[in-house]
Amino acid sequence: MRIDVVTIFPEYLEPLRVALLGRAIDRGLIRLDVHDLRDWTHDVHRAVDDAPYGGGPGMVMKPQVWGEALDDVAPEGTGARLVVPTPAGRPFTQSLAHEYASESHLIFACGRYEGIDQRVIDDAARRMPVDEVSIGDYVLVGGEAAVLVIVESVVRLLPGVLGNPASAKEDSFTGALHGLLEGPSYTRPERWRGLVVPDVLRSGDHAKIDRWRRDQALIRTFLRRPDLLDALPEEDLDAADRKL
Ligand code: SAM
Repeated sequence: MRIDVVTIFPEYLEPLRVALLGRAIDRGLIRLDVHDLRDWTHDVHRAVDDAPYGGGPGMVMKPQVWGEALDDVAPEGTGARLVVPTPAGRPFTQSLAHEYASESHLIFACGRYEGIDQRVIDDAARRMPVDEVSIGDYVLVGGEAAVLVIVESVVRLLPGVLGNPASAKEDSFTGALHGLLEGPSYTRPERWRGLVVPDVLRSGDHAKIDRWRRDQALIRTFLRRPDLLDALPEEDLDAADRKL
């Protein structure tokens, strides 16, 4: 997969070269290019923002600079998908992460200030798929932190990136859990600070362990994210689930 990020703070994306993602780059599983938006400015101040039409506080990122940047990074016919992080976007979810993991080329446009002039997004949408995506109902200072989140969640789904690919299949929100939250996990020692690992996990009875894990996932989801339970199709619940 090819990933391009356009930002006014290229150094902010350095964590993408660390640990699992860094190894994925070293092994050629992804190609990451981070571009400084100011390289497409033409004035002495290398300005990327201007006052908003209609007045109001803050500044808006200029369309000319973004337009030239995206023309170069994503010329017509590259088959890329453009992702624009914004609190006003559609929610980023695990299922969108899976969708992005099947793309060959993702381009991220990091906004700052009050965001990017809307015409940049509308213009790009004339030649490629564009998603305005939010990572949560809160406001960040810029799109870079959102890109770190999105790229990390996408790259770990790519074949060969995780040491044990089965672990991504049993995570919260995934197919095996039918969109539920994962229950609690434990490791050695059996007793720690007076707290004991549940007996069932040490029983060696795999059917019982699976049932216990499923119950814990249902209970945790009910308590913390009832909205996920509400969205669960009826056919994804077995008879034991319904009894719980
Ligand atoms: N005026 C914008 C609004 O109210 O929707 C907020 C702009 S925010 C201060 C600056 C930039 O941070 C945005 O353009 C976007 O790139 C990024 N950003 C902030 N919150 C975000 C979120 N929840 N998800 C994704 N990106 C976000």
